[in-house]
Amino acid sequence: MGEDIREELNKLLELQDKDIFIFHMEKRIKNIPIEIENFHKEIEEIINKIKEEEEKLSGMDKRLKDYFFEIEDIESAINKFEQDRLKVRTNEEYRAIEKEIGEAKKKKGKLEEEALNLIEEIEEKKKELESFKNQSKGKIEGLQEVIENLKKESDSLKKELPIRKDERLRISKRIKNQYLEIYERVRSIRNDPVVVPVRNGACGGCHAFVPTQKVNYLRKTRGIDTCEHCGRILYIPEEVL
Ligand SMILES: [Zn+2]
Repeated sequence: MGEDIREELNKLLELQDKDIFIFHMEKRIKNIPIEIENFHKEIEEIINKIKEEEEKLSGMDKRLKDYFFEIEDIESAINKFEQDRLKVRTNEEYRAIEKEIGEAKKKKGKLEEEALNLIEEIEEKKKELESFKNQSKGKIEGLQEVIENLKKESDSLKKELPIRKDERLRISKRIKNQYLEIYERVRSIRNDPVVVPVRNGACGGCHAFVPTQKVNYLRKTRGIDTCEHCGRILYIPEEVL
């Protein structure tokens, strides 16, 4: 009788191993799309950052053009003042125009300086953006490769899952109903191991004390029983029998 129950126990443990394996597979299948989504977001962030920097750069280019237009306007104003200067009749008029020309030239000089600074800034920014783009290219390619591998992993897990479930079914069919029912009932409540060893007089699942009488019974029959506290199936490991 003892050997028979031991055999059932081994089948239950085999079933349990399979269930744990399937549980992890299903968890992985569920998690992979979340991981993929996060990697896609990471790629998107890099692309957005590049776009943002490109927009900044084109804003700077536009500002530079505005400087050139402004400088051109001042130049034509200066030309006009210089023409007018030829036609003045009084010293007073002459001084007034000289003053205008001086101010316009000063303003032009200031704008030219600002434009030069902006040109330097643009060059700097272009270099930065170029190197960021190069870095990003490698990073994005790496992320895309990771995504591809995750998709492959998911596909192969999805193909493997029904095979493992079929194996599980075959194992479960070999187990006596009275034991299988207990196993399935406890498993439906908790996802962690259902069949646990008694260790140091305690349930290997919930760690509740197992009455000595029950431990002795388990030893004597080499059999199985349930934990009064959590309902798990208890057994004494072979090495301490
Ligand atoms: Zn227990």
